[in-house]
Amino acid sequence: MLVDYHMHLENGPKTLDYVEQFLKVAKRRGISEIGFSEHCYRFKEARHLLDNAWARERNVDSLKEYLELLNRAKQKGWPIKIGIEVDYLPEAEGRIREFLKEYEFDYVFGSVHWLDDFGFDLKENLSVWEQSDVTQVWKDYFETLLKAAESGLFDSLPHPDLIKIYNFYPKEDLNSFIAEIFREIAKTGVALEASTAGWRKPIGEMYPSTDILELIKVHNIPITLASDAHFPEDVGKDFDRMIPILQKAGIEEFLRFNKHQRSKERF
Ligand SMILES: [Zn+2]
Ligand SMILES: [Zn+2]
Repeated sequence: MLVDYHMHLENGPKTLDYVEQFLKVAKRRGISEIGFSEHCYRFKEARHLLDNAWARERNVDSLKEYLELLNRAKQKGWPIKIGIEVDYLPEAEGRIREFLKEYEFDYVFGSVHWLDDFGFDLKENLSVWEQSDVTQVWKDYFETLLKAAESGLFDSLPHPDLIKIYNFYPKEDLNSFIAEIFREIAKTGVALEASTAGWRKPIGEMYPSTDILELIKVHNIPITLASDAHFPEDVGKDFDRMIPILQKAGIEEFLRFNKHQRSKERF
């Protein structure tokens, strides 16, 4: 069986019909279970976790309603899991910890999308990239990813080399620096995500790179599977392309979650 644990309802109505559209596409693509992982910054209840102008504009949904909707879907016997994608900022760790105590999720993702106030994956920030020291940005990204792992707050870290999204690569060779980061991440026990979303972005490759997949294999880091679908038609997209790549890297298992309890599945 296969699962896709990363998708967003934000672009549609918050209805069971809309949830079912994601399930229908999953079924068509041979995915037996799906998990929703809405962006935490969408929720009014979480406004204080990412307090910048960009997030404030998008802070419009109710977490209570999201949980009620997905619990109703579960009660119908639909094979779904309830997750959330939290933006990790080191200085927000305490607030994130307090927030997560209040709610019950099957899993919590910790994503690095922001380095201080630089939302590096936003198109509107391409000009910031052009003025940046790319090597330093990459180092900051992977150091922040390690902090997210060490926080112990998260079940899995999505798209763990998102920093490559716009093809800005450091001139300096960071291979040994990156290898050391993943060696440290492995010690924390957190999972990392394999995602097809990169194929739909300027980088045009999956997350993470084959080099990082090798590190995942070497250190035996567990993985979760993701499309990061923001529309139903993207659920399970390119899994038939990703899974052979994972298998070629020697990765044979992925994780499922039930209220943070892990179980392993083989491809
Ligand atoms: Zn993300
Ligand atoms: Zn996402």
